[in-house]
Amino acid sequence: MAEETNDNALEAKIIEDKFLEFYSTYYQAKLDELYLGYPKKRGLMLDIRDLERFDIDLASGLIETPDVILPRARAALARLNPNPEAKQPVHARFFGTGAGMPMIQDVGSEYIGKLLALDSLVVKRAEITPKVSIGVFKCTFCNSVTKVELEAEAEPEICPQCKRRALKQLSGESEFVNLQRIAVQDPLEKLKGSTPTWQLEVWLEDDMVNTVTPGDRVEITGVLRIKPRKSFRG
Ligand SMILES: [Zn+2]
Repeated sequence: MAEETNDNALEAKIIEDKFLEFYSTYYQAKLDELYLGYPKKRGLMLDIRDLERFDIDLASGLIETPDVILPRARAALARLNPNPEAKQPVHARFFGTGAGMPMIQDVGSEYIGKLLALDSLVVKRAEITPKVSIGVFKCTFCNSVTKVELEAEAEPEICPQCKRRALKQLSGESEFVNLQRIAVQDPLEKLKGSTPTWQLEVWLEDDMVNTVTPGDRVEITGVLRIKPRKSFRG
């Protein structure tokens, strides 16, 4: 078990190092711009076709298993943040999966958990709601504090120090990001006269909220989720 954890940590480090090299090779100027504008600017737009040129296996890993690769891409980006005590998250935002985009009405179970891009017409936009992104937990037994990026990891149940089930979330110290739900459908001209029957729910996060309004036609890249609360995250 311990060995497996070490292997995972090593694997994670290798992937992060690859992203560090990728960013400095292809995106140095954009990186400088991002961190000059930080924390107002928090997202770096990254073309998957550049990643394919850099490392084809890493690119296909990103598309097939974004929940494994994206947190590493984000962690690598955070490691380059020159701002000490940086609190706000930075986002590695990939676009341009290259492959032909499916119609929204054809998006099925084969895409669950994968990164995909959709040519979308925005039809609805809801209010902005906050969500905990970094959970801070304190052990009521030994007082040790654990921080968990809830995007990448599950909520901890056992204190890593004393191994007791005595963790309590400190909501005052947990960090929140904004979320906004929108609904999209296939653009009308692509439906060739047939009526749109299928809408997909998309959750926009942090600096992406309020970037689109109903009527906009946008290419959205995200991970398809089966959970009704988060069907598609861009
Ligand atoms: Zn403890």
